[in-house]
Amino acid sequence: MSDSGSDNKQVCHVCGGQAFEFEPVLWDELVEAWGLSDQERAYIDRQQGECCVVCRANLRSSSLAAAIRQHLGMDGWLRDEAGRRPRRKLRVLELNEAGTLSPVLQQWKSHVLGQYPEVDMQNLPYEDESFDLVLHSDTLEHVPDPIQALRECRRVLRPGGACCYTIPIVVGRMTRSRDGLPPSWHGQSRTTDEDWKVQTEYGADAWCQPMEAGFDSVRLTTLQWPAAIALTLYR
Ligand SMILES: [Zn+2]
Repeated sequence: MSDSGSDNKQVCHVCGGQAFEFEPVLWDELVEAWGLSDQERAYIDRQQGECCVVCRANLRSSSLAAAIRQHLGMDGWLRDEAGRRPRRKLRVLELNEAGTLSPVLQQWKSHVLGQYPEVDMQNLPYEDESFDLVLHSDTLEHVPDPIQALRECRRVLRPGGACCYTIPIVVGRMTRSRDGLPPSWHGQSRTTDEDWKVQTEYGADAWCQPMEAGFDSVRLTTLQWPAAIALTLYR
């Protein structure tokens, strides 16, 4: 990669933009439900609310773009490279729209968008080994059985394929199910729609679920640690 961000110069991995603006997105009820410290609130706010002024990708989308670039060995930025030879024929499955990344991903000729509720991640309507790349962004935390969902991601990947995704991770704690806890929701409108209900709060052991689902290799890609982390699972 031409720029991994390791020199600490912040760059948008979607478009290469180097200017960002920040608008906090968390609200007090959510912070309380999650029991976030001020520092945790600050970095999760950045993950969701720090956006590239050029393409509007937030830090989370940028980390997903970084993971995809890393996996595919892209020299250029995702926006410029997606859909270009020699990768034009990659079969890409996007599960629920990955925010501002969605139009970028649709440059791939064999792009498929699977949207909830028509497409349930726990029971994907696709054949075994039918995709090279499976992508989802802040979706898994809303799925009742995330390990089953990851098993399904693995099933539809061809050997050598990869699943790249983001979830909100609070790195100073372990993953916990919200089963039996007061319901908590994500979403800009502070919706109480069941579909946005948070089922799992992810922590430092977020890499264990893919292992339980049958993947045998997991890579973590981070931008502005610990604000944004993407996982790449290898089939
Ligand atoms: Zn950008």
